[in-house]
Amino acid sequence: MNSSVHITFLGGLGEIGRNCAAIEIDNRIVLLDCGQLFPYKHPGIDSILPDFKWLIDRHDDIEACILSHSHEDHMGGIPHLFRHVSVPIYGSPFTLGMVKAKLESHEVDVPPLVSIEDNEILEIGPFECEFLPVTHSTPGGLMTMFKTPQGVILHSSDFKLDPTPVDKRLTDLNRVSDVSRKEGIRLLLADSTNSESDGVSLSESEIGPILEEVFIENEGRRIIVGTFSSHIHRIQQIADAAMKTGRKLAVLGPSMIRNVALARELGLLHLSDRVLLTEKELKSFRSDKVCIICTGSQAESRAAISMMSAGKHSLIEIDKNDTVIFSSAPIPGNEASIFRVHNKLARLGARIVHSGKLNIHTTGHGKAGELLALHEASNPEFFIPVHGEYTHLLGHEEIALNRGMTQSNVLRCVDGDRVLLDEHGVHLEGRVSDEYLMVDTRGVEVSNGLVKERISLGGEGFILLRVVVDEKGKRLLERPFAATFGWVEAEDKEEWLNEIIEEVIKVMDIALVENKVDQKELTRLVRRTAGKYVDLKTGRRPVLVPIVEIN
Ligand SMILES: [Zn+2]
Ligand SMILES: [Zn+2]
Repeated sequence: MNSSVHITFLGGLGEIGRNCAAIEIDNRIVLLDCGQLFPYKHPGIDSILPDFKWLIDRHDDIEACILSHSHEDHMGGIPHLFRHVSVPIYGSPFTLGMVKAKLESHEVDVPPLVSIEDNEILEIGPFECEFLPVTHSTPGGLMTMFKTPQGVILHSSDFKLDPTPVDKRLTDLNRVSDVSRKEGIRLLLADSTNSESDGVSLSESEIGPILEEVFIENEGRRIIVGTFSSHIHRIQQIADAAMKTGRKLAVLGPSMIRNVALARELGLLHLSDRVLLTEKELKSFRSDKVCIICTGSQAESRAAISMMSAGKHSLIEIDKNDTVIFSSAPIPGNEASIFRVHNKLARLGARIVHSGKLNIHTTGHGKAGELLALHEASNPEFFIPVHGEYTHLLGHEEIALNRGMTQSNVLRCVDGDRVLLDEHGVHLEGRVSDEYLMVDTRGVEVSNGLVKERISLGGEGFILLRVVVDEKGKRLLERPFAATFGWVEAEDKEEWLNEIIEEVIKVMDIALVENKVDQKELTRLVRRTAGKYVDLKTGRRPVLVPIVEIN
């Protein structure tokens, strides 16, 4: 009997972020992506990762990690995991350049990096893997075909079917059809992000001419363009529009500077030194002949555009002669902060151009029409939708069912599911943890409980109560002390804290008469009494910190 294949989904199914799956035969694991989720309501948290405990416990079984492309939701978890695990990382040259810089900046040892060429076939762990090029919003994206004893497993990576990509590197659907006809695709795992959008996505190369028009319309003004620092083909088109309209370029922000240098070194970005201004040259160059490319299109707090909007950028002061172009779309969850940045820039006099007004951005993820084309080409026996919020996964399932797949051949999975592929098909076989692993800016793990405390402190404030009881437990040694932050207005503080103190004195007197001198019990009593009063009076639930001392 052929060995079965196990796939464990550690993240990415039911959310856009922390994509990570372990594919396994005979206890030999190949990890496919290791991403992060951007925190959306988690104070003090820099990134949310898959719960790596299961992987770390099995670190001897892990043979390699394949990175499908360079986005954070696919490789942002690497520095943290690679503090515990060290295995070769496979990826395209651009992806490897990005991950190397990331590991070095986190001071984590760089493991062997193995570069993959388009259409290359490599033995990785227990698998023969064939890598096909895909178009996406960063260069070097790779679809992976895992040849297994249970047939071919095709993982789409993040992809779109761009008929005219900037680098002319097409998604290789022909090879997918070819393998499908000759060997058959047993199981398809495919990107669901845009399954709920009908039609097909706009080609990346259609953005360039629109950008050029915007540049022409804004002649005589300084132009600042914000976009993603890994979106090299967009950066190329911005640079082309600038050069065609007689401008020089300045690149600002550490990640933008680093990625532009990497892409130029790999021949993925064509920019001559003649058009690039250094920071020093930028200071004295005619501002109406400049195009600044920078980060901050998602209103990231430390990024260039956000600093400019707050008047805190060391080089650029925004005024009425500026046009700021957001060549991006808001990542869900960032909308409100982006609008705030738009407003701040507008108040400083800038003209704002964003993708809500003009087609100056296109998605990197295939829409329903493109997903259908992948299903047609691969004609899989089994299908698991991956990479998406839960509704995206369901939307993708519907596309498969409408095409004629039977419900029993489509498996609906979420984070933490472990599935088995054997002679009989694909089935759920168990669960691993789907908990969030939260990490702060120093890379230190932060527990769920601590984040919850921060959320309630931020939302409700806290009240501190100190009660001192005599040793024999007969009386209060002094009037209890109370303090609060964030609960009530300053002018109400004294009166309301006094009322709480009176309530506490009352119940303590009774308790002490009854000889209840157990510190824990008294602490509970103080908390309950104060909590009841606070709830009755304000309907709020600040964090209560009772301290009972027995002297
Ligand atoms: Zn991506
Ligand atoms: Zn992604």
